[in-house]
Amino acid sequence: MRFPRPVISSGFLCVLTALYLLFFNNRTFWTLILQYFDGQLMKVVVMAVALLLLHIAILVLFSAQYVIKPFLILMVMTAAGGSYFGETFGTIITRNVVEATLTTTAGESRNLMTTGFITHMVLYGLLPSLLIVWVRIKHRPIFKKILVNTPVILGCVVGFVVLVASDFGAYSSMYRMHRNDIMARLVPYKPVASTVDYFVRHYTERHIVMQPLGQDAVQETVALPEGKKLLTVVVVGETARAQNFSLNGYNRETNPELKKREVIAFTNTTSCGTETSVSVPCMFSPFPRKDYSSAKFKGSENLLDVLQYAGVKVEWWENNTGDKGVADRSKLIDLQNSYDPKYCEGGECLDQILSDYLRDHLKDFDGNTTLVLHMTGSHGPAYYMRYPPEMAQFKPECRTAEFSECEDSQIVNAYDNTILYTDKILSQIIDILKANEDKFVSSMIYMSDHGESLGERGLYLHAAPYFIAPDTQTHIPFITWFSPDYQAVTGTDLSCLRASTAEEASHDNLFHTVLGMMNVKTSVYDRSLDRFAACRK
Ligand SMILES: [Zn+2]
Repeated sequence: MRFPRPVISSGFLCVLTALYLLFFNNRTFWTLILQYFDGQLMKVVVMAVALLLLHIAILVLFSAQYVIKPFLILMVMTAAGGSYFGETFGTIITRNVVEATLTTTAGESRNLMTTGFITHMVLYGLLPSLLIVWVRIKHRPIFKKILVNTPVILGCVVGFVVLVASDFGAYSSMYRMHRNDIMARLVPYKPVASTVDYFVRHYTERHIVMQPLGQDAVQETVALPEGKKLLTVVVVGETARAQNFSLNGYNRETNPELKKREVIAFTNTTSCGTETSVSVPCMFSPFPRKDYSSAKFKGSENLLDVLQYAGVKVEWWENNTGDKGVADRSKLIDLQNSYDPKYCEGGECLDQILSDYLRDHLKDFDGNTTLVLHMTGSHGPAYYMRYPPEMAQFKPECRTAEFSECEDSQIVNAYDNTILYTDKILSQIIDILKANEDKFVSSMIYMSDHGESLGERGLYLHAAPYFIAPDTQTHIPFITWFSPDYQAVTGTDLSCLRASTAEEASHDNLFHTVLGMMNVKTSVYDRSLDRFAACRK
């Protein structure tokens, strides 16, 4: 026996879908709206009706044969994905989040494919989509449809305007104040708008012509000891937040190894962005955060190019989701794709792969060198996959990417284990540099790309819009180590640096500080942004 397919008019299907999208996928949005209009239920009701009319108008606009079903399904699936990340992690789907999603690695996306995600997508996305596929839509002939739908759309829009105008002051000030936090949680509106924004930018930025940078760069001669070369290892961390480093005052011992070495931690350092795809290019670009944009990054060479113009050997060693274009003109060694079972599982590798690679390959370099090591660090939500079992010192740890199955304290434990592991890797790097002191006058600089939320204010992960991002996402660790040779040759005064650790630092400093560390002179170097210059003789 076959079930007869129910027949439904296109207009009625649009109304049902609008109701579903607005009221079944926007729990976070309505919770915040209720809070905002504290006690004034009438304002919330009027707003709900106004938004519903607007949703109906938009859906009816696409109500044509062969168009309407794919369009409604796209809206339903987008809303389901957006509401999952919004409700689970507090994520706002900005253009940068879209970019991160579309440019991620298989290993990274696998981490997010939890049963919680799949269940949510089936219940909120797939099932309603199947219903849309199942029903038979009654369409009017095209001219009649235009004749009917045009007044319907106009009527909805007029209704929306009248309702908003009924208390324009309240609604417009809410929108102005909260366009980027409360309104940005409305799905599928925000994810769709961000996706369109991403592709528009992607298209317009295609034509940007890369300008050379710092072609006048030269390495000034320093009196290096006989046969030795100058070496800077730049370690780019991932999702490490300053608050969880005991070097920065965390009450848990997460830096037992670095504390035994002569490192300096700059405790007041902020990131350029709140996600990898913004922070990493920004760190290596010549632009400070306030001037930075992805268009500017694409229009200019970066730190690695300037170093190469000066004759410095440069390599980027990758153990994360990619160099984001920074190493386009440099040699890149992709360790993540090595699939070495000693370190790697499911396309992701422990950071030990970086320090072991350094141990084995440092001897191959015979000139002044800058190496960038891009760690996988504390990349969430599967923190427990970032460290080997013996590093699980803080217990019980959350051993799933499904945060709803863990207490916040277990999530923090797993996260702190990643910091403990980073502490070990950085210490190994320092030890390898020490072991090669006969060949290299070396130093190490470590900065994370951004921080992380671990449940504070109901937020998890990162990628919050910068201006509302909590300190936990923008306050990053910045740690350095200088070999005795390096201190002597460059006149770097550690006690002077130690006295300045509480002063402000940021990603803006990296470009100029590394040029200073490599003793590169160029017109694009700004001494005032070289964080170590004042302590160098
Ligand atoms: Zn990152």
